Amino acid sequence: MLATQLQSDTQEDRNAAYAALAKTHGLLSVKVTPFYQKKIDEEVAALGHHQGPLARTVYPSSERLALRAPGEVADWVDDRSNMEDDAKDIFIQKYPDRVLFTPTSTCAAHCLYCFRQDVLSQQKTTARPSVEQQCDVLIKHLKSHPEVQEVILSGGDPLTLPLNELQIIFDKIASVKTVMNIRIHTRVPIFLPTALKNDDKLALFAKHNVRMILHSVHPYEICDEVATLLERMHAHGIRLYNHFPMLRHVNDHADVLLELMQKLEAHHVKTLSIYVPEPINFSAVYRISYDRMCAIIDEVNVRGAAWLNSFRFCLDSPFGKVRRENLKMRDRVSQHLVFMREGQRIDYPDFPAQMDKPGDIKTMLWKMKKAA
Ligand code: SF4
Repeated sequence: MLATQLQSDTQEDRNAAYAALAKTHGLLSVKVTPFYQKKIDEEVAALGHHQGPLARTVYPSSERLALRAPGEVADWVDDRSNMEDDAKDIFIQKYPDRVLFTPTSTCAAHCLYCFRQDVLSQQKTTARPSVEQQCDVLIKHLKSHPEVQEVILSGGDPLTLPLNELQIIFDKIASVKTVMNIRIHTRVPIFLPTALKNDDKLALFAKHNVRMILHSVHPYEICDEVATLLERMHAHGIRLYNHFPMLRHVNDHADVLLELMQKLEAHHVKTLSIYVPEPINFSAVYRISYDRMCAIIDEVNVRGAAWLNSFRFCLDSPFGKVRRENLKMRDRVSQHLVFMREGQRIDYPDFPAQMDKPGDIKTMLWKMKKAA
């Protein structure tokens, strides 16, 4: 009933209905940068509606508000269980050799499919210690855990921080000699490339030999301005990768995935992983049945050039990532999958095949239709 009602409503109506839902269910609010909005305006003008791939990433569709799937939870990966009591909201440690440092809960814009939104929306309402204080907590932990070899900056989006705070973070991490690698997970180059228009931040990343992991979900995010930034980052010696979820009606087709990977590869970005959207509350609009995801991945593997095909297809869990080879049992009637990782059991409620209406390729790649 609600879905039918909202089909005929405007995007403003859907935003207002979503704002109320977001408040009661710990979802992220709508937040879009003018840079990304310009692309959405172009998409809406071409398609005549807000159901295009980029609009769906940051604006609620009518299905988003009404569609629920069995087994949804607030926080699928249970980040809180991997935070130490005295470092709550500062770092997460799921693997012995890596720490995820989250110095900010701010993002340039909000991806409505974000799988950390339960924790993030809560963090946005609580005061955080300064970046320097958070670094001190992290460094104390790193010094007493020499087995940690990599610090992964995530968030929120770490690239929303100003240069002086990024300098503090990198200098402090560099003072721990057992840390060999620093990684940044970010969507700032996609949402707000002007934040990196000066070379000072790029020089800092290059000095610390960071790996930059973009989270680009669609080829139309890689416009000329973003491509120019990728080229500048590459020229500075920054190693570039992409890692992103497969999302229904955004990129759930081999043509879209191959277009994205090829476009990124042309600008020195290697695809690291494509992951399964997690069964969090109100995520049904983005989710895809496991069999259909595997079929799309198989098609990408068959059609994609060898240099595009080394990515991992995985599902995150409270115990770490699992892959197709970790699937140990499945019940097709109850649509329940069981993965095993290092003796830990992960029960995954599959997205019901009967709800899985694939994205329309002519909508997802509307520029190609226009050009044809
Ligand atoms: S930028 Fe990352 S952390 Fe922020 S909303 Fe998007 S996916 Fe979530």
